[in-house]
Amino acid sequence: MAPTRDFRYYAAFFEQRDSAMTTTLFKDFQFEAAHHLPHVPAGHKCGRLHGHSFTVRLEITGEVDPHTGWVMDFADLKAAFAPTLDRLDHYNLNDIPGLENPTSEVLAEWIWNEMKPKLPLLSAVRVKETCTAGCVYKG
Ligand SMILES: [Zn+2]
Repeated sequence: MAPTRDFRYYAAFFEQRDSAMTTTLFKDFQFEAAHHLPHVPAGHKCGRLHGHSFTVRLEITGEVDPHTGWVMDFADLKAAFAPTLDRLDHYNLNDIPGLENPTSEVLAEWIWNEMKPKLPLLSAVRVKETCTAGCVYKG
């Protein structure tokens, strides 16, 4: 490839990056809560009251501001989620309206519905109830 063509390729690449660089950032939150699943078959272990150390990951997708260099401030993301986190941490999830059947799937959708009005760039809510099990809800 001739040098002039290389230059045009890279010039176009950087021009595009400068005008619209989109990324997804995330922040993880942890809370402890009790729950039981009322609709599992009789004898299923999840039908008994038990607890989890939940991890919630909020993902934000948007254009990087060319001046600040970020999509949004992680501190703003933390502040936006704080009231919802306070409603979940060290509670029995079954007692929270909308979480009468608090599976990871239902919890992820519930968190999405709580946060989407506050975070218009919210692109995914990940809920993990163990180290190896969880779900992703993208609206
Ligand atoms: Zn459970």
